[in-house]
Amino acid sequence: HAKDDGKGVVRRFDPVRFAEAAQRRRDESDLRRALAEMQFEVHYQPIVDLNGELAVGVEALVRWRHPVRGLLGPGDFIELAETLGLMPGLGLWVLREACAQAVVWQQDNPGFKVNVNLSATQLSSPELTDEVGAVLADTGLPPNSLVLELTESMALTDLTESARVLGSLKTLGVRIALDDFGTGFSSLSHLGALPVDVVKIDKSFVAAMRETTANGSVAEAVLQIARTFNLAPVAEGVEDEVQAALLRELACAEAQGYHFARPMPAAELTGLLSRQSAGLQIR
Ligand code: C2E
Ligand code: MG
Ligand code: MG
Ligand code: MG
Repeated sequence: HAKDDGKGVVRRFDPVRFAEAAQRRRDESDLRRALAEMQFEVHYQPIVDLNGELAVGVEALVRWRHPVRGLLGPGDFIELAETLGLMPGLGLWVLREACAQAVVWQQDNPGFKVNVNLSATQLSSPELTDEVGAVLADTGLPPNSLVLELTESMALTDLTESARVLGSLKTLGVRIALDDFGTGFSSLSHLGALPVDVVKIDKSFVAAMRETTANGSVAEAVLQIARTFNLAPVAEGVEDEVQAALLRELACAEAQGYHFARPMPAAELTGLLSRQSAGLQIR
């Protein structure tokens, strides 16, 4: 049918738009059902000490075990979940799951850390600090073992408000990491205004490290900035030994990437940790 959109413009039936809208409605109901039936899993990627190549912590990364499409990564559903208002709930579930799991790993790995990503809507929720506090209390995870990750662009939407929220989270004793650090370089002048502890050097800068020397690389510059602001750097997306060696040369203490280990289910990470305790290399 041709339809008057109220502005006097008559729009004809468009089969492509119709198909897209139908697909979107299917995706929406799929996602709502997934949440109701908890088809989600948390996978964990080791964060290693670059010198000993020991896993000192993990980043929790959400996955959707889709009944038809198989295992889906956040790129396939986070944006829609955020749009539908489902992220605060899903994010809180990931946080609870990851903290409870970290407590178990800490039994054999004292001080083991867990990093959890926050979404934009979680960050702007007035309940966030109370919720994080409740998860810490319920699971018994020491607050300084939890690192909450947020991206620079999220933090910069409203700097004053971000500083207030992060300050409130920090009263719990948790640590804050800026994710994908360096991709929003406009923030550099504001870095001192945010109570941040860790910066995760974006994988694009690590990927660019292919030279025989680390000097003059963007990664080196980003590491220098981290040092200036007294922030602990973690390099993301380390895929080979060349990058690992260059980062070591730049005194970057910690790193994460396929070179060491891919994100994996909790049970597999438990296996990795016990091999590590037995003195074996994790890769
Ligand atoms: P991120 O926080 O920057 O997480 C790192 C991403 O890099 C992960 O992708 C990880 O699998 C991937 N990665 C790790 N090592 C390598 C490597 O050596 N090379 C390359 N090319 N990639 C590597 P993933 O799991 O697909 O997650 C993508 C993004 O989704 C995350 O980026 C994060 O922003 C978001 N995300 C994941 N889990 C959650 C969550 O529970 N809540 C929220 N709000 N966001 C999440
Ligand atoms: Mg992250
Ligand atoms: Mg990142
Ligand atoms: Mg990212």
